[in-house]
This record gives sequence, C-alpha cells and structure tokens, in this order.
Amino acid sequence: MTLDPELVQILVCPNDRGEIDYREDDQVIVCRTCGYRYERQDGFMVGAITINTILLASYTFSCHSLRHLVGGRKDEVSGNALRSGCYAACSSLNRRHQVFAWLSLCSVGFADIYVRLCSMGIWTDYRLL
Ligand SMILES: [Zn+2]
Repeated sequence: MTLDPELVQILVCPNDRGEIDYREDDQVIVCRTCGYRYERQDGFMVGAITINTILLASYTFSCHSLRHLVGGRKDEVSGNALRSGCYAACSSLNRRHQVFAWLSLCSVGFADIYVRLCSMGIWTDYRLL
C-alpha cells in the first residue's frame, strides 16, 4: 500500500519527533534520528475497531432519544412517511438496545486494551492474512 506523500511529510517519530523515511518495499517507517522502525500491519486490530464502530452505530441508531428525534412530534409519531419510517426502523432496533449497549461497552473496552497493549509491545497484533 502506498502512503500519501503529503502524509509522509508531516509524520514524525512519536519517540523524539524526528523526521521519518517511508520504505514502501518493506512497508516500514524508519526514524532518521533514533532508527526506530514502525511496521505497517493490517492485523486483528483493524477488525476489532471495525466491529467496535458497527456496535456503537447499532447502539446509537437503536436509542430511544434518536427514535423520538427522527420520528416524533410533540406527543405523537409524525405523519410524514420518511419520519415515520425512521421511527419504525429505530423501534425495530430499539428492541435490542440493551444488547447493543452491553456489546458496544465490552467492545470499546476490549479495543482500548488491545490497542494499548499492542502499542506497548506487550501483545502482538495478530495478522488475519
Ligand atoms: Zn525517533
């Protein structure tokens, strides 16, 4: 994968703010100052964060407040077809709102711990392919 040259120009080493070189053949970023190597990986972390995003979106779209915001009037469901359709869609998701709440809570906690431990070098980001 190619990194955008403008992005490479503004990237700096997190250790010492030194300038970096991107070696596309090796898929690695190397700090010119301290020599630290940052390997590009598409491992389980990408999947964990994607699942996290889906669960958080499910939690948001199943929310009671969103349901009333998109489909309601002061004390009744709107007569507008689009708004009442959105209300019905949120209502169908709302039946599983508690499940989405717990799953997204656990997912956020796991993703935070996973990313933190991978960044500290304690865990290895398991590659999917
Ligand atoms: Zn450095």
